[in-house]
Amino acid sequence: MEWESVIGLEVHTQLLTKSKAFSGASTKYGAAPNTQACAVDIALPGVLPVFNKEAARMAVKFGLAIGAAINRRSVFARKNYFYPDLPKGYQISQYELPIVAKGRVTIDIDGQEKVVGITRAHLEEDAGKSLHEDFHGMSGIDLNRAGTPLLEIVSEPDLRSAKEAVAYLKKLHQLVVYLGICDGNMQEGSFRCDANVSVRRKGETKFGTRAEIKNVNSFRFVEKAIEYEIERQVELLEAGGKVVQETRLYDSDKNETRSMRGKEEAMDYRYFPDPDLPPLVIDEAFVRDVEKTMPELPDAKRARFIKDYGLSPYDASVLTASREMAQYYEETATASGQPKLAANWIASELSGYLNRENKDITQSPVTARMMTGLLKRIADNTISGKIAKDVLDAMWSGEGDADTVIAKQGLRQITDTGAIEKVVDEVIAKNPKQLEQYRAGKEALFGYFVGQVMKATGGKANPAQVNELLKKKLAG
Ligand code: ADP
Ligand code: MG
Repeated sequence: MEWESVIGLEVHTQLLTKSKAFSGASTKYGAAPNTQACAVDIALPGVLPVFNKEAARMAVKFGLAIGAAINRRSVFARKNYFYPDLPKGYQISQYELPIVAKGRVTIDIDGQEKVVGITRAHLEEDAGKSLHEDFHGMSGIDLNRAGTPLLEIVSEPDLRSAKEAVAYLKKLHQLVVYLGICDGNMQEGSFRCDANVSVRRKGETKFGTRAEIKNVNSFRFVEKAIEYEIERQVELLEAGGKVVQETRLYDSDKNETRSMRGKEEAMDYRYFPDPDLPPLVIDEAFVRDVEKTMPELPDAKRARFIKDYGLSPYDASVLTASREMAQYYEETATASGQPKLAANWIASELSGYLNRENKDITQSPVTARMMTGLLKRIADNTISGKIAKDVLDAMWSGEGDADTVIAKQGLRQITDTGAIEKVVDEVIAKNPKQLEQYRAGKEALFGYFVGQVMKATGGKANPAQVNELLKKKLAG
């Protein structure tokens, strides 16, 4: 039996505002428990929420980036439920009228473009955290996170595999970080996702019953959780069973999803407009204002790199992965006047070092200026590409810029024809047998002679000149 999976994601992004969505308390991560929870956040009687305009600015920025309409009037509602980390007994969220309407995000699947619909994005507040460690037989409650503004981004059920879901999630992550509205830190929970998964027989037009996997916080776990869930549902259906609509939890240690609770319906939450908050009204001027702060977006930047610098689509993707990486590349490409060379050296060599040591470009010990220096020496033939790798290694280890390393280690390429000729003569004199065989027709020995000359010069002889001289001399 052929099965098709259907996936829709709900992504919670923590907005990078300094203070909370409805209070003046700080949103900074990592403070001692409950030191950043004010009267509003802990729901003392009589307090009133005041909306943080900065959160609206960020939501509008996102809406513009995905080509969505911005609803000029959106409404905050109360979503009622009980949980110890929610002292008000309700979460303020947008329900019927979200701030951001339908939009779209384009993902790349094996070189093929696919458009993923965004149903909506709405503002809401985060809850606090229950702490289960260090409290023997009890739980602790930390309300520092309570009231932190979130933008929940809901996708259409357009995704058809775990791989597509991850590609979409990565694209969204890149986008919110580019926009500067979220720090994207998944370990700290700034970017987390619920995955809705169902399966159906190929050719079937109706969707199957879905299960929702809650709060997965790494790209790898999202992929594994969805893959596991697809397999579970297919096995269940093939055995004649039925998928029940429910909320499940992913256990990364066991790599499985487990039932948490039955799926609650919207009516269970008794949504109603929050009487303490007026509707959020956004005028044209506000939107135009936000528009002026829009950076160049990843897709546009990538297309520009391909066009202006002649980069391959792959290199352009690597070099626009983050704004910082793109800036590093452009600075190097421009200053060295070698855009192609710069792309090769940054997208493969330097990225190799960064990946090995799990660093991002802002932590690279080789600055854009140092990389420029290296490329200039390759371009003007001071060093060969092979020696340049040694120079990069030395720069990475903190031995100074390219010129310093080249001078200190005597790596300057030998381009003096006389000097190379001398070595070539010596090598030929030392290998009479090989010379005889070569002249008798064993042409493969040419490489042997090249190798001997390079060895004798410590790899510093200009390879083109060595080739030319050897050809002439070996011919006799
Ligand atoms: P809620 O989970 O709060 O009830 P929705 O009903 O709007 O919200 O759905 C949330 C997510 O579930 C969306 O991302 C949507 O694309 C996805 N979804 C809806 N139906 C299915 C389905 N049958 N299979 C997979 N995903 C689905
Ligand atoms: Mg949901």
